[in-house]
Amino acid sequence: MHSQRDSHTSFTACSDCDLLVSFTEVKAGYSVLCPRCGKKIHKKTKDSIAKTLALSVTGLLLYLPAITLPLMTFKSFGFSDSANILESILNFYRNDYYLVAVMVLLSAVVFPLVLLSGIFFISQQLYRKRYSPSLAKIFRIYEHLEEWAMVEVYLLGIMITVIKMNGTSDIQYHPGIFCFTALVLITLTLSTIIDRDLFWKTIENSAAENKKLSFADNDAGTAPISAAARGLILCRICHLLSPSTLAGKGCPRCGERLHVRKPMSFSSTWALIITSVIFLAPANLLPIMRVDFLGIPDRSTILDGIIYFFHNGSYLIGLIIFAASILVPVFKIVGLAILLSTRRPCKEHFLKQKTRMYRFIAFVGRWSMLDIFVISLLSVLVDFGFFTSIHAAPAATYFCIVVASTMFAAITFDPRIMWDICGPCDTAIADPEPPTSFEKTS
Ligand SMILES: [Zn+2]
Ligand SMILES: [Zn+2]
Repeated sequence: MHSQRDSHTSFTACSDCDLLVSFTEVKAGYSVLCPRCGKKIHKKTKDSIAKTLALSVTGLLLYLPAITLPLMTFKSFGFSDSANILESILNFYRNDYYLVAVMVLLSAVVFPLVLLSGIFFISQQLYRKRYSPSLAKIFRIYEHLEEWAMVEVYLLGIMITVIKMNGTSDIQYHPGIFCFTALVLITLTLSTIIDRDLFWKTIENSAAENKKLSFADNDAGTAPISAAARGLILCRICHLLSPSTLAGKGCPRCGERLHVRKPMSFSSTWALIITSVIFLAPANLLPIMRVDFLGIPDRSTILDGIIYFFHNGSYLIGLIIFAASILVPVFKIVGLAILLSTRRPCKEHFLKQKTRMYRFIAFVGRWSMLDIFVISLLSVLVDFGFFTSIHAAPAATYFCIVVASTMFAAITFDPRIMWDICGPCDTAIADPEPPTSFEKTS
């Protein structure tokens, strides 16, 4: 029998395993986890709109000084060099590393600004209760671009550059580095404070048409548990459930094209993995950095750079670079290949592990850009004329291709297919599952 639900009950589907989930509103600071795969599907933040507005204003005020003021000065051999973030990118451009320059420019400068201004505009409009159709479009762009902005990776790059040069030159810090650190802290806090559900619902409620899906229409009884089996599609951007008759059309809430599963997920993920494998070889075998010392060039590969840190006793830094530059790309390629090629066993335990592995792969990808950021800083901060100078070398371009293609591979992979292959769960249930776990998040 189907019981009448009160208006506080929400329905959604898990974006990682497609399980239909019903939940009642949680207290602020708590999250709802998918009872099947553990994915965080809903999170409640107190005063999210006001806090987002305040943080994004602060972020925007800090942005210009963080990007344009000098970060630090390196002094050595009577020479001194200071640099800001923009100069470190221009240096790649001047040396014909166009792809690397574009990738650093987008991930460290352009996307962070687009995200900050976008979320400022949205939260300011929602705070003043002014709604326009453009809000959904802007928030959709925000959700798409979020993982491509990498200011926190750049900050780690700054730290590693400082540790690397600590023994060989005098380092002076400038206001830029403090503004940039503050900007990173604000960006990180912002991503945890935005109550995505609330934002989407507020944007949606302002729209003229607001159809609520009713599960009472569906036959209960031997109902399967995935959204797809119930004839529903989850929007991958705003997480709205729509009837599957809308497949191939735009989401009624955010406009993103709806698909029951990501189209051509297997073939495009395989294609991107093969691309990464092809470029992984030159990225690791060719030199990524050239140090000219007294006119004599010394080229080093990624691995040489890591060995250098171990020789100098900086084990932690050596390990971080090793993890970011070698372990992460290899792990992503091997991990996605395993996810794509293993269909059995179908035990829920293994499916859960595989879904967890997918989430980890999607999370760590961006940290591979670390070495590129370090080289961008070194090449502009260490330019002491004839004595010593540091330049990027060809592997930098190939490495950027590896990072981008593995990140795209994680985006095109659809973890729900792993659950589909194994069919519906043995225990068919009549109603959407209530979450079994709540997690305190703050
Ligand atoms: Zn799930
Ligand atoms: Zn949507």
